[in-house]
Amino acid sequence: MDKLIEEMERYAREYDIPIMQKEGLVFFQKLIVENHIKTILEIGSAIGYSAIQLARLDPDMHIVTIERDDERYAKAVENIERSGLTDQIELIHGDALEIDIDGNFDCIFIDAAKAQYIRFFEKYETLLKEDGIIVSDNLSFHGYVEHPERKMSRSLRGLVRKIKNYIVYLENHEKYDTLFINEGDGLAISRKKKTNMVE
Ligand code: SAH
Ligand code: MG
Repeated sequence: MDKLIEEMERYAREYDIPIMQKEGLVFFQKLIVENHIKTILEIGSAIGYSAIQLARLDPDMHIVTIERDDERYAKAVENIERSGLTDQIELIHGDALEIDIDGNFDCIFIDAAKAQYIRFFEKYETLLKEDGIIVSDNLSFHGYVEHPERKMSRSLRGLVRKIKNYIVYLENHEKYDTLFINEGDGLAISRKKKTNMVE
């Protein structure tokens, strides 16, 4: 397993695949254990790295993960097979905004196209269990979000603006409370607000 993990990390470096950073991953793994999370829906599998790193935490963990890119999907199939975790990880090839998924998850992990985070959130929060959490990755986007003075191409600036919009969206969400965590590339953890039924 360690050899496979190392190989995936090397492959990601070589082909510029934005897999989760170590500190972010360690934080996320701890969060999952502490919150007794057993089912995860991941949007954006890339080569299967985070799915494998989360599934290996617990033989009872079940992960459904979606990837739209053909090459990355093929690599993820290969890596998941090599990991021996095929019973725990269901990999779906498709665009998360176009396909429909069934189920009820303890955790929804949003880690796909940064410009579409609000759309992923709105589409998939309906599949979250009442006391589940939505985790969003890369809200710092390599530090660009906190450092708008840095030189950026027009498209990067547009992306950073979209990430900021998402942060504001989470901050003002009427149904969710969000905690922003400065680990890895910036994570957000959103939980449903408890509605007070007694007037
Ligand atoms: N979670 C992975 C990294 C994901 S990188 C890890 O940490 O190991 C983001 C991935 O999301 C890319 O591979 C990209 O192809 C995929 N992606 C982007 N938009 C998507 C969409 N709408 N549906 C499915 N996958 C998407
Ligand atoms: Mg990420």
